[in-house]
Amino acid sequence: MKQFIFLLLVVCLPLSTTFAGEGMWIPLLLQQLNEKEMQSMGMKMTAEDIYSVNKGSLKDAIVHFGGFCTGEIISREGLILTNHHCGFGQIQRHSSLENNYLEDGFWAMDQKEELTNPGLFVTFIVRIEDITAAILEGVTDDLSESDRQSVIDRNINAVKGSILREEYQDVLVRPFYKGNQYFLFVTETYNDIRLVGAPPSSIGKFGADTDNWIWPRHTGDFSLFRIYANKDNKPAEYAEDNVPYTPKHYLPISLDGVAENDFTLVFGFPGRTDEYIPASAMDLRVNTLNPIRIGIRDKSLEIIGKAMRSRPEARIQYASKQSGIANSWKKWIGETQGVKATGGLEKKRALEAEFTKRVNKKKAWKKDYGLLLPQLNKLYGDLKPYAISQDYINEISFRNIELLRVAGIINRYMVILDNNGEETFKSRLPRLIAYLEGFYKDYIPDVDQEIFGRLMEVYLKDVPKPHQAAYVQELFEKSGSNYQQMAEMVYNGSLLAKGEKVLAQLNEDPIAFFKTLNDDPAYKTTTEINNKSAEEVSQPYQKIDEEIELLQRKYMQALMEVFPEKRFYPDANSTLRVSYGQVKGFEPRDAIQYQPVTYLKGVIEKYVPGDYEFDVPEKLRSLYEAKDYGAYGQDGKMPVCFIGSNHTSGGNSGSPAIDGSGNLVGLNFDRVWEGTMSDINYDASICRNIMVDIRYVLFIIDKYAGATRLIKEMKLVHPKK
Ligand code: ASP
Repeated sequence: MKQFIFLLLVVCLPLSTTFAGEGMWIPLLLQQLNEKEMQSMGMKMTAEDIYSVNKGSLKDAIVHFGGFCTGEIISREGLILTNHHCGFGQIQRHSSLENNYLEDGFWAMDQKEELTNPGLFVTFIVRIEDITAAILEGVTDDLSESDRQSVIDRNINAVKGSILREEYQDVLVRPFYKGNQYFLFVTETYNDIRLVGAPPSSIGKFGADTDNWIWPRHTGDFSLFRIYANKDNKPAEYAEDNVPYTPKHYLPISLDGVAENDFTLVFGFPGRTDEYIPASAMDLRVNTLNPIRIGIRDKSLEIIGKAMRSRPEARIQYASKQSGIANSWKKWIGETQGVKATGGLEKKRALEAEFTKRVNKKKAWKKDYGLLLPQLNKLYGDLKPYAISQDYINEISFRNIELLRVAGIINRYMVILDNNGEETFKSRLPRLIAYLEGFYKDYIPDVDQEIFGRLMEVYLKDVPKPHQAAYVQELFEKSGSNYQQMAEMVYNGSLLAKGEKVLAQLNEDPIAFFKTLNDDPAYKTTTEINNKSAEEVSQPYQKIDEEIELLQRKYMQALMEVFPEKRFYPDANSTLRVSYGQVKGFEPRDAIQYQPVTYLKGVIEKYVPGDYEFDVPEKLRSLYEAKDYGAYGQDGKMPVCFIGSNHTSGGNSGSPAIDGSGNLVGLNFDRVWEGTMSDINYDASICRNIMVDIRYVLFIIDKYAGATRLIKEMKLVHPKK
């Protein structure tokens, strides 16, 4: 019965009180929850035009790109648009000092020149179903958490087994609203995805780290891929005779641009948000954990930056890795600042006070929900020391020291060898070898060694002693208590730091190679750190975290019941979502007003000849001088980027920005720094997403690169005329 009431509540909630722009909504529920508001904001479509299982709709043009970004189809020949930073790994893998696509860009001038990308895939959502009732069948309040999970797992398997689908389709089930609801997704995944075009980094990554997360922005952050299918238009592994995919729907492209207050819809796969954590958890994140991670990455970025500035090969080898490390580093800085600037903690505390007041007024609520917040606060307090150590260790051993990360991956194969025997081990080995070939291609031991020295100092000074591996302490003593000496000892003594030897031995006699590992100092450092951490940190962490999960689920349910006037959207979980808003400037600080659109003029203003971040290609400068914008300029100016109030997150990178009539007007790629805290605390005053104006994308493809064959595939429209 309780379940039933809960579901009704979700569906019947009145419109109001989430800010215009706030929310990442489930496409299936738009009609009940959002359609009216969207139309009042300027949308001319219906919910059915966005998501339908009966006819081609916008959702058929949207793909989950590689499982971590979004892409959209923009031609009837399966052409996909996504971000430059989403295709960055692929562009980099095809690059060498001779064919430097990162630096010079890449344009396939016909389909034969399009480049294959083993491992890359895109996934379509065929349909979505609310299966909450089936999944929670048999779940009662008196079940323990593990029994509850067993019932749910059994129900998920039953539902998956009974669902109607084609044999090339998959079924995913995901919890929503912290496990109070469940949705099912039937998906189709294509594995032959080829690189079609990418601008040089001086356009696609213009401004690099200095401009990342920053407005005003002037980055042409796009790249183009194409889906290939078999002759029946169905998913197939790469084959030379595969053909371009024919989509159910592709996005027409508007040449009319946007103006302030225009409606924008962003459709994509936001990765993860935590909007419903209590103030105590937010405090832990922004005031304790973020500073720890930032501090560690400060150190590794400094060392990587030094290498990239002085060594051309390091610039290529570290390009992708450095971007990944720097991206989150800068985001966390912005998040902590944004929460402070908008009084995020105080607002949460005020909401909690109101929650407590309402709960205390009603007997049933007081009984069910009265202790939730104090219990959650206590648990987050208990979690804190483990969360701190976990973040230190993750950052040190999994994220920033490559040798330890790779040793950790090799260790997984050691476990397979020990537990599953030689035959299974050998059958998995080609994957490891392929991975290691990629890894060592971009590995520079002396850079990594310096990072190791710096971060071992952090490990031994800042991780609480009981969470430290004795082996690392011994190494330190053996090296005369000198961190760089210790690094030298490990890297000189470790086979894993020598890629060619590792690959040769693995190909020759893998079992013999694995037998030597237990004495390898890098391998041993990793396993000792990780084993100690598993016992002393991860286990207690997980135990507390499970209790938190249970209470967060109840708290979510309670919030929805206690605040019936509020409209709740589920946290992002890498599933397809719609967020809608308007093109809007904002006031980041007192007396500063940001305009919503940037122009090519701003690129030229930022131009620093020869600079690693702000160089501008000669061709682009001459197009600017000649004001030669073709059909893509507006009033003699070339628009580059714009911002809106759409609620987005990582994973929305590459999402289309769509106008009120279903045409592509922009390409989402970032958020403004002041508002990166939207993952935990969306605030309409400063949260903005950043999009490339689609006309800038077309201008670069056509006028800059001369890849006019691609423009001919697209459907260009003038909705405002
Ligand atoms: N640029 C961001 C990212 O790649 C996208 C976002 O978080 O808004 O994570």
